[in-house]
Order: sequence, then structure tokens, then C-alpha cells
Amino acid sequence: MRRAGRAAAATLDAVAALIRPGLTTAEIDAFVRADTAARGGRPSQLGYHGFPAAVCTSRNHVGCHGIPRADEWLAPGDIVNVDVTTELDGFHGDTSRTFFVGEPDADARRVVEAARACLRAGLAVVRDGVRLGAIGRAVAAEARRHGCAVVPDIAGHGIGRHMHQPPDVLHVPAGRGPRLRAGMAITIEPLVTLGDPTLDLLPDGWTLVTRDGAWSAQFEHTVLVTRTGCEVLTRSGASG
Ligand code: MG
Repeated sequence: MRRAGRAAAATLDAVAALIRPGLTTAEIDAFVRADTAARGGRPSQLGYHGFPAAVCTSRNHVGCHGIPRADEWLAPGDIVNVDVTTELDGFHGDTSRTFFVGEPDADARRVVEAARACLRAGLAVVRDGVRLGAIGRAVAAEARRHGCAVVPDIAGHGIGRHMHQPPDVLHVPAGRGPRLRAGMAITIEPLVTLGDPTLDLLPDGWTLVTRDGAWSAQFEHTVLVTRTGCEVLTRSGASG
């Protein structure tokens, strides 16, 4: 799990260095395929329930699961989430960040900083013995502090030999839930919007966009629950 997490984080670090106006999301996809392979891994998303790409690229009002395209160029002022999952020797590491393309305006900066803070708030409550529901309460409270809303339909998940496995990790209050136990691996990945947190599915069957067109941002880490807290397995700066 540590090796898979480090590889995914290192690929995402390399993507970060590429982001610029004029880049297409298909170029991000091609880069992720090659970089993941160079680290000895396989993009977990490629072919997952038929997903046609190696990575999700979700721009501006696209909440998540955006499909990279050759005719989608990053423009100055955009924000784009890149979600990388790497399978390495049978284990998966899953991580995403939302990047600024050029100079963001105040709203773009606000939603991105809110999403980053929401992930941090979720990570802060994780440790052995804590109820899963504590994560959702902490994340939703942090979003409110930023004047933003968490999209309730997008959850983190258990992760290990499968990219997605139980339990669902909700980012909104939803009861107490089971206790986290040391040795469990989960993702936390709050999707935060400036507007109404209702998403619509596009006809491609994957892309989820905000119904009101408000911009959204998301950050994700894969973490190992420990007795005293958690170990972030997809920390930036890892050398894959
Ligand atoms: Mg995930």
C-alpha cells in the first residue's frame, strides 16, 4: 500500500509540473499512462467499469469523473482536478488535487482552498477507535466555515487489493458508522462547491457536473489508520 501510494503521489507531482494554459486533458491522460508504467504500475481507472481513460480530469463546474479529451484545452483562470489511481503489485493508491491554470480569480481560490481545508479536517479526526461518522461531521463543518457546500453523493472508500472496497467514507454527517481500526486503509476525498451541491450525470455516463454550473474542487488522499492517527500514503513529495 505504501509503494502504490507513493507511486500515485509521484505521478500526480509530475502532472502538477505540466499544468499550463494550452495543455489538453488528453495530454494529461497520455502522460499519466506513461508515467504510471515507468513506475512499474498500472492506471487502476483504465477500463474500470468501462472507464475509457487512465485518469479523471475535471475542470471548473465538472465535479468529478471527467473524461480527458483531445479537444479540451486548459485556459487561463481554469481550475482542474486530476485524480490518479495506481495499482502496483496488487495494491492501489488513490489521490487527487485541484490545480490552478494561470492566475485564479477570488472564487476559484476560495473553492480550492475550502476543498483542501476539508480534506485536512477529515484527516485530523482519523485514528483507531474513532467512528467513521466523525469524518463526515468534521468535513461538513469545515466546508460551512468557508461558505461552501460538500457534495453528499461523492464518498471516499476503503482501498487495498481493490480500488473501491467497503466502507463508504461519507463527507457529510450520516450517523455514527463503524469504528475505524488500525491497519484499515481508506480514502478521504471531499468534493466542495460554491453553489448547490446537486450533480447531474452527462450522457457519456461518467462526467458529473454541478447542476447550477458553480465551480467545484476536490482533494483526495489514501490513508492508513494507525493507533494514534493516520499515515498519509499519497503525500506530495514522495519519490515513487
Ligand atoms: Mg477515490
